Amino acid sequence: MADGRFAPSPTAPLHLGNLRTAFIAWLAARSSGSRFLYRSDDMDQVACRSEHELSALRDLQALGLDHDGEVVRQSERAELYRDAIDRLIANDLTYPCYCTRREVLAEASESIAAPHGARPTGAYAGTCRTLDRAGRQERETSGRAPSLRLRSEGSVVSFTDRLAGIYEGEIDDFVIRRADGTPAYNLAVVIDDAEQGIGEVVRGDDLLETTPRQIHLARLMGVNIPGYLHVPLVLGPDGERLAKRHGAVTLDDQRAMGRTPTEIRSVFAHSLGLCEQNEQPSLDELIKRFDVARLPREVWVLPDDMASSVGP
Ligand code: GLU
Repeated sequence: MADGRFAPSPTAPLHLGNLRTAFIAWLAARSSGSRFLYRSDDMDQVACRSEHELSALRDLQALGLDHDGEVVRQSERAELYRDAIDRLIANDLTYPCYCTRREVLAEASESIAAPHGARPTGAYAGTCRTLDRAGRQERETSGRAPSLRLRSEGSVVSFTDRLAGIYEGEIDDFVIRRADGTPAYNLAVVIDDAEQGIGEVVRGDDLLETTPRQIHLARLMGVNIPGYLHVPLVLGPDGERLAKRHGAVTLDDQRAMGRTPTEIRSVFAHSLGLCEQNEQPSLDELIKRFDVARLPREVWVLPDDMASSVGP
Protein backbone atom coordinates (compact mmCIF):
# COMPACT_ATOMS: atom_id res chain seq x y z
CA MET A 1 0.00 0.00 0.00
CA ALA A 2 1.43 3.35 -0.99
CA ASP A 3 -1.13 6.09 -1.17
CA GLY A 4 -0.64 8.26 -4.20
CA ARG A 5 -1.71 11.67 -5.31
CA PHE A 6 -1.98 14.05 -8.20
CA ALA A 7 -1.16 17.64 -7.27
CA PRO A 8 -1.33 20.04 -10.19
CA SER A 9 -1.09 23.80 -9.87
CA PRO A 10 -4.25 25.23 -11.44
CA THR A 11 -2.49 27.87 -13.52
CA ALA A 12 -3.70 26.58 -16.90
CA PRO A 13 -5.81 23.76 -18.32
CA LEU A 14 -4.09 20.38 -17.98
CA HIS A 15 -2.48 19.15 -21.18
CA LEU A 16 -2.17 15.58 -22.38
CA GLY A 17 1.25 15.26 -20.74
CA ASN A 18 -0.17 16.19 -17.32
CA LEU A 19 -3.10 13.83 -17.86
CA ARG A 20 -0.86 10.94 -18.85
CA THR A 21 1.18 11.48 -15.67
CA ALA A 22 -2.05 11.56 -13.64
CA PHE A 23 -3.06 8.29 -15.31
CA ILE A 24 0.24 6.65 -14.30
CA ALA A 25 -0.07 8.00 -10.74
CA TRP A 26 -3.61 6.62 -10.54
CA LEU A 27 -2.57 3.23 -11.93
CA ALA A 28 0.38 3.02 -9.52
CA ALA A 29 -1.88 3.70 -6.54
CA ARG A 30 -4.83 1.56 -7.59
CA SER A 31 -2.70 -1.39 -8.67
CA SER A 32 -1.33 -1.57 -5.13
CA GLY A 33 -4.80 -1.23 -3.61
CA SER A 34 -3.97 2.25 -2.32
CA ARG A 35 -5.82 5.50 -2.02
CA PHE A 36 -5.39 8.18 -4.65
CA LEU A 37 -5.69 11.77 -3.42
CA TYR A 38 -6.18 14.99 -5.31
CA ARG A 39 -4.45 18.12 -4.12
CA SER A 40 -4.67 21.52 -5.71
CA ASP A 41 -1.27 23.22 -5.41
CA ASP A 42 -2.85 26.64 -5.54
CA MET A 43 -0.52 28.51 -3.21
CA ASP A 44 0.18 31.18 -5.76
CA GLN A 45 -3.18 32.90 -5.68
CA VAL A 46 -2.15 35.33 -8.42
CA ALA A 47 -1.35 32.62 -10.95
CA CYS A 48 -4.00 30.06 -9.94
CA ARG A 49 -7.66 30.04 -11.02
CA SER A 50 -10.51 27.98 -9.66
CA GLU A 51 -11.77 27.44 -13.23
CA HIS A 52 -8.56 25.51 -13.95
CA GLU A 53 -9.04 23.40 -10.83
CA LEU A 54 -12.57 22.60 -11.97
CA SER A 55 -11.53 21.69 -15.50
CA ALA A 56 -8.70 19.50 -14.17
CA LEU A 57 -11.13 17.59 -11.96
CA ARG A 58 -13.56 17.23 -14.87
CA ASP A 59 -10.80 15.86 -17.10
CA LEU A 60 -9.77 13.26 -14.54
CA GLN A 61 -13.36 12.24 -14.05
CA ALA A 62 -13.88 11.92 -17.81
CA LEU A 63 -10.87 9.61 -17.99
CA GLY A 64 -12.29 7.55 -15.11
CA LEU A 65 -9.50 8.49 -12.70
CA ASP A 66 -11.38 8.76 -9.42
CA HIS A 67 -9.87 10.09 -6.21
CA ASP A 68 -10.51 9.48 -2.53
CA GLY A 69 -11.73 12.12 -0.14
CA GLU A 70 -12.14 15.83 -0.62
CA VAL A 71 -9.86 17.99 -2.73
CA VAL A 72 -7.13 19.46 -0.51
CA ARG A 73 -6.05 23.00 -1.36
CA GLN A 74 -2.71 24.49 -0.37
CA SER A 75 -4.34 27.91 -0.15
CA GLU A 76 -6.31 26.61 2.85
CA ARG A 77 -3.34 25.24 4.78
CA ALA A 78 -1.32 28.36 5.60
CA GLU A 79 -1.09 27.50 9.29
CA LEU A 80 0.52 24.15 8.64
CA TYR A 81 3.27 25.74 6.57
CA ARG A 82 3.72 28.60 9.04
CA ASP A 83 4.32 26.13 11.88
CA ALA A 84 6.87 24.22 9.83
CA ILE A 85 8.72 27.41 8.90
CA ASP A 86 8.69 28.57 12.53
CA ARG A 87 10.26 25.29 13.59
CA LEU A 88 13.04 25.64 11.04
CA ILE A 89 13.68 29.22 12.17
CA ALA A 90 13.74 28.16 15.83
CA ASN A 91 16.34 25.50 14.98
CA ASP A 92 18.52 28.14 13.32
CA LEU A 93 18.28 26.39 9.97
CA THR A 94 17.30 29.45 7.95
CA TYR A 95 18.52 32.89 6.96
CA PRO A 96 16.95 35.84 5.17
CA CYS A 97 18.02 36.44 1.59
CA TYR A 98 17.74 39.81 -0.09
CA CYS A 99 18.83 38.77 -3.57
CA THR A 100 16.45 39.43 -6.44
CA ARG A 101 15.59 36.63 -8.85
CA ARG A 102 17.83 38.28 -11.42
CA GLU A 103 20.78 38.38 -9.02
CA VAL A 104 20.28 34.75 -8.11
CA LEU A 105 20.26 33.72 -11.75
CA ALA A 106 23.33 35.82 -12.50
CA GLU A 107 25.20 34.20 -9.64
CA ALA A 108 23.80 30.72 -10.16
CA SER A 109 26.58 28.29 -9.52
CA GLU A 110 25.45 25.70 -12.03
CA SER A 111 28.58 26.04 -14.14
CA ILE A 112 30.85 25.13 -11.25
CA ALA A 113 31.23 21.38 -11.12
CA ALA A 114 29.54 20.04 -8.02
CA PRO A 115 31.70 17.82 -5.81
CA HIS A 116 28.97 15.20 -5.81
CA GLY A 117 25.70 14.79 -7.60
CA ALA A 118 23.81 17.11 -9.86
CA ARG A 119 23.24 20.73 -8.94
CA PRO A 120 19.64 21.87 -9.46
CA THR A 121 18.91 24.50 -12.07
CA GLY A 122 19.33 28.01 -10.65
CA ALA A 123 21.10 26.68 -7.54
CA TYR A 124 21.72 29.46 -5.06
CA ALA A 125 25.36 30.49 -4.64
CA GLY A 126 24.88 31.40 -0.96
CA THR A 127 25.39 35.17 -1.29
CA CYS A 128 23.34 36.16 1.80
CA ARG A 129 24.41 33.20 3.96
CA THR A 130 27.22 35.11 5.64
CA LEU A 131 25.61 38.56 5.84
CA ASP A 132 26.24 40.10 9.23
CA ARG A 133 23.75 42.17 11.19
CA ALA A 134 24.93 45.44 9.59
CA GLY A 135 24.63 43.96 6.11
CA ARG A 136 21.10 42.77 6.81
CA GLN A 137 20.11 46.11 8.26
CA GLU A 138 21.45 47.96 5.26
CA ARG A 139 19.35 45.84 2.94
CA GLU A 140 16.29 46.10 5.18
CA THR A 141 16.47 49.89 5.11
CA SER A 142 16.76 49.90 1.34
CA GLY A 143 13.27 48.38 1.42
CA ARG A 144 14.04 44.90 0.09
CA ALA A 145 11.72 42.24 1.50
CA PRO A 146 13.72 39.08 2.18
CA SER A 147 12.90 35.54 1.23
CA LEU A 148 13.85 32.83 3.70
CA ARG A 149 16.40 30.17 2.75
CA LEU A 150 17.36 26.89 4.30
CA ARG A 151 20.94 26.46 5.49
CA SER A 152 21.82 23.29 3.65
CA GLU A 153 25.58 23.20 4.18
CA GLY A 154 26.13 21.67 0.73
CA SER A 155 24.58 18.37 1.73
CA VAL A 156 24.27 15.69 -0.89
CA VAL A 157 21.23 13.44 -1.08
CA SER A 158 20.91 10.27 -3.07
CA PHE A 159 17.73 8.27 -3.57
CA THR A 160 16.40 5.51 -5.75
CA ASP A 161 13.55 6.49 -8.00
CA ARG A 162 11.29 3.58 -8.96
CA LEU A 163 11.64 4.46 -12.64
CA ALA A 164 14.65 6.76 -13.02
CA GLY A 165 16.92 4.68 -10.76
CA ILE A 166 19.60 6.15 -8.50
CA TYR A 167 19.72 9.93 -8.48
CA GLU A 168 22.10 12.04 -6.48
CA GLY A 169 21.86 15.78 -6.05
CA GLU A 170 23.61 18.51 -4.15
CA ILE A 171 21.37 20.65 -1.97
CA ASP A 172 21.65 24.40 -2.32
CA ASP A 173 20.26 26.89 0.19
CA PHE A 174 16.84 26.84 -1.43
CA VAL A 175 13.94 29.18 -0.62
CA ILE A 176 11.37 27.96 1.88
CA ARG A 177 9.38 31.19 2.09
CA ARG A 178 9.12 33.66 -0.74
CA ALA A 179 9.69 37.38 -0.32
CA ASP A 180 5.92 37.95 -0.54
CA GLY A 181 5.45 35.71 2.50
CA THR A 182 4.06 32.65 0.67
CA PRO A 183 5.55 29.27 1.56
CA ALA A 184 7.73 28.01 -1.28
CA TYR A 185 6.81 24.93 -3.33
CA ASN A 186 9.55 22.70 -1.87
CA LEU A 187 8.41 23.43 1.69
CA ALA A 188 4.71 23.03 1.03
CA VAL A 189 5.05 19.80 -0.94
CA VAL A 190 7.08 18.10 1.83
CA ILE A 191 4.64 19.15 4.54
CA ASP A 192 1.59 18.19 2.46
CA ASP A 193 2.83 14.80 1.32
CA ALA A 194 3.81 13.90 4.89
CA GLU A 195 0.60 15.20 6.41
CA GLN A 196 -1.52 13.41 3.80
CA GLY A 197 0.35 10.15 4.35
CA ILE A 198 1.51 9.87 0.74
CA GLY A 199 3.52 6.69 0.23
CA GLU A 200 4.64 7.30 -3.32
CA VAL A 201 4.92 10.52 -5.32
CA VAL A 202 4.40 9.99 -9.04
CA ARG A 203 5.06 13.10 -11.12
CA GLY A 204 6.83 14.47 -14.19
CA ASP A 205 10.59 14.12 -14.29
CA ASP A 206 11.02 17.87 -14.64
CA LEU A 207 10.83 17.74 -10.82
CA LEU A 208 13.49 15.04 -10.44
CA GLU A 209 16.29 17.52 -9.81
CA THR A 210 14.48 19.23 -6.95
CA THR A 211 13.62 15.95 -5.20
CA PRO A 212 16.91 15.76 -3.19
CA ARG A 213 15.95 19.13 -1.69
CA GLN A 214 12.60 17.75 -0.61
CA ILE A 215 14.13 14.63 0.91
CA HIS A 216 16.70 16.74 2.75
CA LEU A 217 13.97 18.98 4.16
CA ALA A 218 11.82 16.02 5.18
CA ARG A 219 14.80 14.57 7.06
CA LEU A 220 15.45 17.86 8.83
CA MET A 221 11.80 18.09 9.83
CA GLY A 222 11.60 14.47 10.88
CA VAL A 223 8.61 13.75 8.64
CA ASN A 224 7.90 10.79 6.41
CA ILE A 225 9.79 10.55 3.12
CA PRO A 226 7.67 9.06 0.32
CA GLY A 227 8.92 6.86 -2.47
CA TYR A 228 9.31 8.52 -5.87
CA LEU A 229 8.49 7.63 -9.43
CA HIS A 230 9.35 10.32 -11.96
CA VAL A 231 7.73 9.96 -15.34
CA PRO A 232 9.49 11.12 -18.52
CA LEU A 233 7.74 14.11 -20.04
CA VAL A 234 5.55 14.25 -23.11
CA LEU A 235 6.96 16.23 -26.01
CA GLY A 236 5.26 17.83 -28.97
CA PRO A 237 5.82 16.41 -32.47
CA ASP A 238 8.70 18.91 -32.85
CA GLY A 239 10.52 17.40 -29.86
CA GLU A 240 9.89 20.40 -27.60
CA ARG A 241 8.13 20.17 -24.25
CA LEU A 242 4.39 19.89 -24.87
CA ALA A 243 2.68 23.29 -24.85
CA LYS A 244 -0.40 25.07 -26.11
CA ARG A 245 1.30 26.09 -29.33
CA HIS A 246 1.43 22.42 -30.34
CA GLY A 247 -2.29 22.56 -31.13
CA ALA A 248 -4.85 20.17 -29.69
CA VAL A 249 -3.15 19.50 -26.35
CA THR A 250 -6.07 19.41 -23.89
CA LEU A 251 -8.82 16.86 -23.44
CA ASP A 252 -11.36 19.47 -24.58
CA ASP A 253 -9.32 20.09 -27.75
CA GLN A 254 -9.29 16.38 -28.41
CA ARG A 255 -13.02 16.12 -27.82
CA ALA A 256 -13.58 18.94 -30.28
CA MET A 257 -11.68 16.81 -32.79
CA GLY A 258 -14.04 13.92 -32.13
CA ARG A 259 -11.90 11.79 -29.81
CA THR A 260 -13.57 10.41 -26.72
CA PRO A 261 -11.85 10.31 -23.31
CA THR A 262 -11.84 6.49 -23.57
CA GLU A 263 -9.92 6.74 -26.84
CA ILE A 264 -7.43 9.14 -25.26
CA ARG A 265 -7.00 6.78 -22.32
CA SER A 266 -6.29 3.98 -24.72
CA VAL A 267 -3.68 6.11 -26.52
CA PHE A 268 -2.00 6.72 -23.15
CA ALA A 269 -2.22 3.04 -22.25
CA HIS A 270 -0.65 2.08 -25.57
CA SER A 271 2.16 4.60 -25.00
CA LEU A 272 2.80 2.87 -21.65
CA GLY A 273 2.97 -0.59 -23.17
CA LEU A 274 -0.31 -1.61 -21.55
CA CYS A 275 -2.33 -2.39 -24.66
CA GLU A 276 -2.27 -2.74 -28.41
CA GLN A 277 -2.99 0.28 -30.57
CA ASN A 278 -6.76 0.91 -30.71
CA GLU A 279 -7.44 -1.68 -28.03
CA GLN A 280 -9.65 -0.21 -25.31
CA PRO A 281 -9.19 -2.24 -22.12
CA SER A 282 -11.34 -1.41 -19.11
CA LEU A 283 -9.79 0.44 -16.17
CA ASP A 284 -9.88 -2.77 -14.12
CA GLU A 285 -8.00 -4.58 -16.85
CA LEU A 286 -5.43 -1.75 -17.07
CA ILE A 287 -4.91 -1.88 -13.30
CA LYS A 288 -4.20 -5.62 -13.64
CA ARG A 289 -1.76 -5.06 -16.48
CA PHE A 290 0.09 -2.16 -14.86
CA ASP A 291 3.73 -2.98 -14.23
CA VAL A 292 6.36 -0.35 -13.44
CA ALA A 293 9.06 -2.60 -14.89
CA ARG A 294 7.38 -2.27 -18.29
CA LEU A 295 6.97 1.51 -18.23
CA PRO A 296 9.02 3.28 -20.88
CA ARG A 297 12.00 5.24 -19.58
CA GLU A 298 12.06 7.59 -22.54
CA VAL A 299 10.00 10.66 -23.35
CA TRP A 300 6.80 10.11 -25.28
CA VAL A 301 6.42 12.23 -28.40
CA LEU A 302 2.80 13.09 -29.10
CA PRO A 303 1.90 11.62 -32.48
CA ASP A 304 1.58 14.23 -35.20
CA ASP A 305 -2.03 13.38 -36.01
CA MET A 306 -3.06 13.88 -32.38
CA ALA A 307 -1.72 17.37 -32.00
CA SER A 308 -2.93 18.68 -35.35
CA SER A 309 -6.23 20.50 -35.16
CA VAL A 310 -7.59 18.68 -38.22
CA GLY A 311 -10.11 15.94 -37.37
CA PRO A 312 -9.03 12.29 -37.35
N1 GLU B 1 2.15 21.36 -8.17
C1 GLU B 1 3.33 20.96 -8.87
C2 GLU B 1 3.20 21.30 -10.34
O1 GLU B 1 2.12 21.49 -10.83
C3 GLU B 1 3.61 19.49 -8.76
C4 GLU B 1 3.75 19.08 -7.36
C5 GLU B 1 4.35 17.72 -7.22
O2 GLU B 1 3.90 16.80 -7.91
O3 GLU B 1 5.23 17.57 -6.42
O4 GLU B 1 4.18 21.36 -11.04
